[in-house]
Amino acid sequence: MNNPESPGNPFYQRACFVTAAAKPDRMPPDRGREVAFAGRSNAGKSSAINTLCHRKQLARTSKTPGRTQQVVFFALDETRRLVDLPGYGYAKVSVAVKLQWQRLLMAYLEQRQSLTGLVVVMDIRHPLTAFDQQMLAWGQRMELEMLLLLTKSDKLKRGAAHTELDRVTKTVATAGGQVQVELFSARTRLGIEPVHRLLDRWLGV
Ligand code: GDP
Repeated sequence: MNNPESPGNPFYQRACFVTAAAKPDRMPPDRGREVAFAGRSNAGKSSAINTLCHRKQLARTSKTPGRTQQVVFFALDETRRLVDLPGYGYAKVSVAVKLQWQRLLMAYLEQRQSLTGLVVVMDIRHPLTAFDQQMLAWGQRMELEMLLLLTKSDKLKRGAAHTELDRVTKTVATAGGQVQVELFSARTRLGIEPVHRLLDRWLGV
């Protein structure tokens, strides 16, 4: 059981904003290691990043659609970074913007040498949306290690959350690849320790 009062992991508390890039040539040099976070808009991605870094406002929550078309880089130290990938799912967004989003995401996932792991943040009440499945397929094609984070798990009773965890774990196991699934909550901080351990491994901490 996680202790909500437990002291944070100091390594992740150091995260600081580096840059927001709308094009691959605006991204920081492709050296060292980084872990990227993807998620459908409103899934809880920004809250998950803020919780993992013990910060209130590192990644922006409740963003406007225009702001979401950027890849945002946070430095943990000189060689390690966390990356906030553009969210997806605003009904109002035009086809042109969706294509731009897809191109940026593909360029990042296909070309980024320092990318060592991909976290796909999903609302536990609506997991494995078409977006999530597309991210899974891309991650598998790139042979990336992946973590599916079932966040907002405080919204379900403990038994129901574990049932959902089992269901999603079984579903992705059949798809193959290196995919791990964890329960998470930005509200209760459930899952923060196993996720830090996995990030430590991916980042070589
Ligand atoms: P993003 O668009 O994926 O970055 O999503 P946000 O992090 O902005 O979260 C969307 C909404 O869900 C906000 O109102 C958050 O307060 C809420 N939220 C995010 N994570 C949790 C969680 O773990 N538990 C609960 N109860 N609400 C959450």
